Amino acid sequence: MNTEEIMALDKDYVMQTYGRQPLALKEGKGAVVWDVEGNPYIDCVAGIAVNNVGHAHPHVAEAISKQAHKLIHTSNLYYTEEQVRLAKLLVEISPHQKAFFCNSGAEANEGAIKLARKYTGKGDIVAMENSFHGRTITTITATGQHKYKKGFGPLPLGFSHVPYGDLEAVDDAITEKTAAVLVEPVQGEGGIIIPPHSYLAELKKICHENDALVIFDEVQTGFGRTGEMFASQTFKVTPDITSLAKAIAGGFPMGAILASEEVGRAFEPGDHAATFGGGPLACAAGLASIETIKEEGLVLKSRENGVYFKNELNELFQEHGLVEDVRGVGLMLGIEMDMPCAHMVDAMRQQGVLVNCTAEKVLRFVPPLVITREQIDKVTSNLDEVIGRLTD
Ligand SMILES: *Cc1c(COP(=O)(O)O)cnc(C)c1O
Repeated sequence: MNTEEIMALDKDYVMQTYGRQPLALKEGKGAVVWDVEGNPYIDCVAGIAVNNVGHAHPHVAEAISKQAHKLIHTSNLYYTEEQVRLAKLLVEISPHQKAFFCNSGAEANEGAIKLARKYTGKGDIVAMENSFHGRTITTITATGQHKYKKGFGPLPLGFSHVPYGDLEAVDDAITEKTAAVLVEPVQGEGGIIIPPHSYLAELKKICHENDALVIFDEVQTGFGRTGEMFASQTFKVTPDITSLAKAIAGGFPMGAILASEEVGRAFEPGDHAATFGGGPLACAAGLASIETIKEEGLVLKSRENGVYFKNELNELFQEHGLVEDVRGVGLMLGIEMDMPCAHMVDAMRQQGVLVNCTAEKVLRFVPPLVITREQIDKVTSNLDEVIGRLTD
C-alpha cells in the first residue's frame, strides 16, 4: 500500500483521535526511518522518546524474537526468570529497591498514585500546571492542561495543581490530607521545561516535612534521555516513587513503578495487578534494551551529543530572531519559536527530518540516543534553512 491508500483506510476504519503527519512508515535503522515510498528521514521524534536504542536494534530484535518462540505470556499467577531479572536490573541502575510492572505510562502513574495512597493512608495529590501524565481518567485529572480533560468529566476528586517551579505554591497547596506531589523532573509535552535550580530537592524536603511522598514521572525522561540513566540522577534528587514507560523496552509496550524498599512494601498481595504486566516478552525486550544502553555507552552519548546538539541549536538562536529560546538537557531538547511551529514540522519532514511540535510553539528534539554528529549536523542545517525561509 502507498501512503494515500493507508491514509484512506485509516480514515475509514480507525477512530480519528490523532492529528497524524501524512507519512506512513515502514522500516527503521538506528536514527533513520523510511516511509512506504522508500524516502529516508532522520528521526528526532523516536516514537516520542521511546526508541532510545535506535530502530531495529539487532540485540533487542533478537531478544524479542527468541522469547516469542519460547513463551509470550504467563500472567502474574506464576513467576518468570525474565521478570525477576528485569526487576533486579532496574534496581541496579536506579535509586530504588522495588519494581512493579505494567504496560504504559498512564498505567504507571495510576499505580504510583495508588501506591502513594496506600503507603500514606491519605488521598490528595498535588500536581503541576502544564504537566502531562497520560490519558486515562485519573491521569488526565493529574495532568495540568485543560485541553486533555475537556468533555471527559466527571473527574476523580483529590487533585490540585500549582505552577511548575513555584515552591511557595506547593507549600501552600500541601495539607495534612496530601499523599504525594507528582512532578515531571523535566516537563516534556509541556514544552521541555527545566525546573529552577534546586527546585526538585526543595520540593522533596517540603513533601517529607508534611509526611507526603514525592513521585517523579520519568516516563519521558528515563533511560538516558537527560544524560544520566534517570533524571533523578541528573538532578541528584531521589524521589520516593518513579513512574516509567516509553523507552523502558526499546519500543515494546511496557511501564513500571519503582519505589524505595519501605514504600514498595505498602503494596500487599491483591492490592494491585496487571494481566500483561511484566510478561516475559516485554521483560526480554526490556532487558535487551537496557543492556544495549549500558553496553553502547548511550547515557554518555546522550550527555555529550546533547551538549553538541544544543550548541548547534544555540547558534541558530543567535542567527534568527524568530527563535525565542533553546533549552533542554541531554538529548531532550526544545527550541521555542515566536509563532506556532506545526508548519515547520511539515517543512522539515519534506527535507527528510522528523521533529514534533509541542506546547504549540516548541519544536521538540528527542532523537534515538544513537544519533550521530553527522545526523545532528544535517538536522540543524535543515532547520537553519527552514527558519531562514520564514524570515525571507
Ligand atoms: C508519554 C507520557 C505519559 C503517558 O504515557 P503513555 O504510555 O502514553 O500512557 C505520562 N507521563 C509522561 C511524562 C509522558 O511523557
